Amino acid sequence: MRRMPKLDPTSDEFRAAGHKLIDWIGDYLDGVDRYDVLSRVKPGDVEKQFAAKPSAAGRPYDALLADVGDKIMPGMTHWNHPAFFAYFSITGSQAGILAELLTAALNANGMIWRTSPSLTELETVTLRWLAEALGLPNDLFGIINDTASINSFLALAAAREQAAPEIRTRGFSAAPNLRVYCSEHAHSSIEKGALALGFGIDGVVKIAGDARFAMNADALEAAIVRDRAAGFVPCAISATVGTTSSAAIDPVKRIAEIAKRENAWLHVDAAYAGPATICPEFRWLWDGVEAADSIVINPHKWLFTPIDCSVLYTRKPDVLRATFSLVPEYLKTTDTAEVNFMDYGLQLGHRFRALKLWYLFEHYGLERLQSVIRGHIADAARLAAELQKRDDVELIAPQSLSVVVFRKVVRNADGSIDESASERASIEALERMNASGRLFVSHTRLANRYGIRVAIGNGATEWEHVARVLEYL
Ligand code: PLP
Repeated sequence: MRRMPKLDPTSDEFRAAGHKLIDWIGDYLDGVDRYDVLSRVKPGDVEKQFAAKPSAAGRPYDALLADVGDKIMPGMTHWNHPAFFAYFSITGSQAGILAELLTAALNANGMIWRTSPSLTELETVTLRWLAEALGLPNDLFGIINDTASINSFLALAAAREQAAPEIRTRGFSAAPNLRVYCSEHAHSSIEKGALALGFGIDGVVKIAGDARFAMNADALEAAIVRDRAAGFVPCAISATVGTTSSAAIDPVKRIAEIAKRENAWLHVDAAYAGPATICPEFRWLWDGVEAADSIVINPHKWLFTPIDCSVLYTRKPDVLRATFSLVPEYLKTTDTAEVNFMDYGLQLGHRFRALKLWYLFEHYGLERLQSVIRGHIADAARLAAELQKRDDVELIAPQSLSVVVFRKVVRNADGSIDESASERASIEALERMNASGRLFVSHTRLANRYGIRVAIGNGATEWEHVARVLEYL
């Protein structure tokens, strides 16, 4: 009888290659500080090393690992590097890597409860743990998706459903006057989500920030009064707890009062800053959050979980479900489980990301996670203090959590600041830092000032890494 060819006849090769790969990863993590943080390759350098077609006969794992070293690693920017301070570093961990391996091995798709009960139920458990660890209300429904951008999109879709359920049948023409409000410093994903949902650019109202780059709640109120008078209806307000540029904290409590009065959905984007509240002394960040209809938190930004892992909490799961549930015949079941994740979002497929959170919580424990996050914030405060000792540098935003934003200052003869020379000097300093390979920082612009932005978030970062910023000024 002819035997069907098998992809992997035995697990022998897998075991041998797997042990080598784990050792390779261990060496990489131990030695990551030896790499340039920012890759030095030029566009196309990586691509041209690869053949036009994949191998016909296949290649052994050893040859692939050699190619990883020779062809792929030079084109890697090292997000695992303890001196990666750009954007919000994606803070992996050894526990997270192991859990990813296990996730791939189990290869489960949690679209409905029966397609892996453990997936659905561990997600429920770990998100209850996370809410408890962060001091969030205990009545929230949670779901893990890939990114904050997608989660904010889902939240805005639920807001739209709440404001005008007739849109589900008749499309946006049924309620063309809905508006979304966020601060000028909100992440672009809020506007992008609103665009994708059909609110239109004109449907997103950007509210001015105050001197600390937090949303000005008076300006929000004034904008809503203006819009109401013109026939618009506030549908959602998105507040940010920890803005991208400077980790500014919007006044959620005041914004919540306005949202309540206007009957608008309150979304809180705490993608970056949410994890800080694992330390009780930062729970004040949640002031007013009990009124939030949805909250997004990214463990893959600042809770040592390899990308991707973004959590959406809502106290209105029924609205989220009403927005997205559409069950084809082949997915109907008689199971009594309450949650089928496919009903709460756009995607059908659902990865077993909860394993990463479970590994993280159980392996490190809350106290270790708290102490690492406290260390990041203390190092940011120390950096800000060191920078403030210099007269050729100024902070352009108050230091907040693990983010420091500053610029080089060049003065005119009369002591006033030469704006364009300051910008040039700041760009040069940033380029010196990044060209060194020893650290990687990014930039922003606040109140029209160019700023070098340092965001600390890697589990291996120590003060000596942060201090590198000072060496290139
Ligand atoms: N929200 C905030 C405050 C962010 O800073 C970012 C990214 O930096 C996002 C949302 C988008 O995150 P994601 O890449 O998970 O979509």
